Amino acid sequence: MMTSLPLVFDAPRRALPPRHLADLSAGERRDAVVALGEQAFRARQLSHHYFGRLTVDPAAMTDIPVASRDRLVGELMPALFTEVRAVSCDAGTTRKSLLRAHDGTLVESVLMRYPDRTTLCVSSQAGCGMACPFCATGQGGLTRNLSTAEIVDQVRMAAAAARDGSLGGGPARLSNVVFMGMGEPLANYRRVLDAVRRICDPAPDGLGISQRSVTVSTVGLVPAIRRLADEGLAVTLAVSLHTPDDELRDTLVPVNTRWKVAEVLAAARHYADRTGRRVSIEYALIRDINDQPWRADLLGRLLHEHLGQLVHVNVIPLNPTPGSRWDASPKPVEHEFVRRVNAAGVPCTVRDTRGQEIAAACGQLAAEG
Ligand code: SAH
Repeated sequence: MMTSLPLVFDAPRRALPPRHLADLSAGERRDAVVALGEQAFRARQLSHHYFGRLTVDPAAMTDIPVASRDRLVGELMPALFTEVRAVSCDAGTTRKSLLRAHDGTLVESVLMRYPDRTTLCVSSQAGCGMACPFCATGQGGLTRNLSTAEIVDQVRMAAAAARDGSLGGGPARLSNVVFMGMGEPLANYRRVLDAVRRICDPAPDGLGISQRSVTVSTVGLVPAIRRLADEGLAVTLAVSLHTPDDELRDTLVPVNTRWKVAEVLAAARHYADRTGRRVSIEYALIRDINDQPWRADLLGRLLHEHLGQLVHVNVIPLNPTPGSRWDASPKPVEHEFVRRVNAAGVPCTVRDTRGQEIAAACGQLAAEG
């Protein structure tokens, strides 16, 4: 992956973008508007345009006088991203967009239409510091955290694109958001949490997506999982386990050297108990690495023990990344793996792979310009 190397060496301490409406809570938005010498109710109007109508175009904000409009948009809606490129596949139902931030940082998000829902896979960081060896994002290291508004704006842009018919099959309503793009969301905790609130608050204070339709996926940062459990949210937690034994997990998910499988599962149980939500366990199935029948049995046993009925396993056939020697398991091996986990009383299904040929599938996001 030669093309991503400059990002590593070129990564001085990059600054977050200037303050944006979507960084602020409703109360903070009011205060910010008043501090600019405008009337407080303008905050609600602006929020209606941004969160409700999904627009940042001052010309469309005709309920606000022109002078105020320019000042408010100038101060509170700095442009966060330019879309460098959008590519589609799967008959137009998968669409990846490459976005350039104010400082040149590149991030990607992927919009996917299914028969019953439309999902955005969103990035929480530019790059990632978790260094999982099978994931393209992990190979380039962490460039920087994204701001709350940069996360929310990915969702706003995707919701507008779906509404305006950018996906195959015509206009669609963005219904789900998964934090499975670039980055480790729980390593950017405060900003991700604020973004979740903005994504889920009803319009005009937020984008109005149901908490239950938002998934936060983590490598297993135990203290952050416990903290998330106590936030009073109903979002789905996904844990990228990838193997039930510490020995292999220490290499597949290097943060396992800090928090072991048993601690991760105990934190997941705490999350399930506090929220009443089933935890998703992500398992990238890698040929001859983690796909053995004994690992399926051990996985089923451990999950049943720790989580009982409050768990579901998503098997993700490994998406090969450039330069990696790893591959997906053969289908019969995959079927046997799934069968054994199910036989242990743990629901287990194979996640359908989208966007492989446009490098938009799980673990393929590298954001090369
Ligand atoms: N950092 C978070 C979220 C980002 S990745 C996390 O690790 O959970 C979303 C999912 O894709 C994770 O389960 C990740 O392990 C998985 N993934 C990464 N690379 C992959 C690859 N090459 N093939 C299949 N899944 C992969």
